[in-house]
Amino acid sequence: MKNFLIVANWKLNGNIKMISSFFETLKLNLSAYANKSTIVFAPSDVYLERVYQCINDMNIFLAAQNVDINLKGAFTGESSILMLKDIGVKYIIIGHSERRLFHQETNDFIAKKFLLVKKLKLIPILCVGETEKEKQNGQTKQVIKEQLSCIFQKLGNSAFRNTVIAYEPIWAIGTGFSAHPKDVQLIHEFIKNYIRKHDPSSINETIVQYGGSVNHSNAKEFLKQSDINGLLIGSASLNPQEFLKIIRIACHITGE
Ligand code: PEP
Repeated sequence: MKNFLIVANWKLNGNIKMISSFFETLKLNLSAYANKSTIVFAPSDVYLERVYQCINDMNIFLAAQNVDINLKGAFTGESSILMLKDIGVKYIIIGHSERRLFHQETNDFIAKKFLLVKKLKLIPILCVGETEKEKQNGQTKQVIKEQLSCIFQKLGNSAFRNTVIAYEPIWAIGTGFSAHPKDVQLIHEFIKNYIRKHDPSSINETIVQYGGSVNHSNAKEFLKQSDINGLLIGSASLNPQEFLKIIRIACHITGE
């Protein structure tokens, strides 16, 4: 039986009122689907504790959208893994394309974060994916290989045990143009084979999810692909009814 990992990335969105009404709606409707998928919310750090209070009695987990590479000290404006762990965070999104683009995060810098997150026993969600131009040039696999190999170099062959990789083609994020599910399946197969080459026995310990303009109309086709183990959802996760529709779809597939 498939157990999908569905992650809601709220980015720089949300407020106290929105969070209360979002989880009221979720509480009323989610019980029938609880335990069939693993559901994770990544609000802004400002609201992590508030979301934690809302999900307390639900089978839902908390993710941070980013983290610093330092654990404590004179690093104004940052959050550390220790602090995030302290307030109940279980997953940390690393290397989202918006951080690579707007904050100039390199593969090497992201690998440092990945290493630290694992060392402190949280679960990294590593985002990988190509730009529109790289796709047009046929460089998708090469780009992903570079993004992953940097992690192997720092952590060794077993780097991806108990971790999550989110394949997010950059051209599909927030554009309304998702990738084709069959193309995503091929890329996921490639990612899993690449990991298997380094660590033949670890592949069931790595979750590979897709992200990029997922909504209730296309979620089913993605989740039906054999190597898609879950979804990373931006805009569609801000609307509780839309998000619930996607959870229902995941649960129906799980039950098939
Ligand atoms: C994302 O930012 O990770 C994402 C997948 O966004 P969207 O679903 O809005 O494309």
